[in-house]
Amino acid sequence: MSQDNLIILKCTKCGARVHRTFKNKRKLQQHKLELNKYCEVCKKHTPHKEIKK
Ligand SMILES: [Zn+2]
Repeated sequence: MSQDNLIILKCTKCGARVHRTFKNKRKLQQHKLELNKYCEVCKKHTPHKEIKK
């Protein structure tokens, strides 16, 4: 199983890497995502940036 589709989302507030998801490889190469996700450290929704492993 390739890890090419593994994505880590890093909280831009505290830096925690808490979200992982899989998505289409083509979409990956287009642009870096910034998503509002729930951070377990901040206990609220914060902007998360995509990190490629
Ligand atoms: Zn956070």
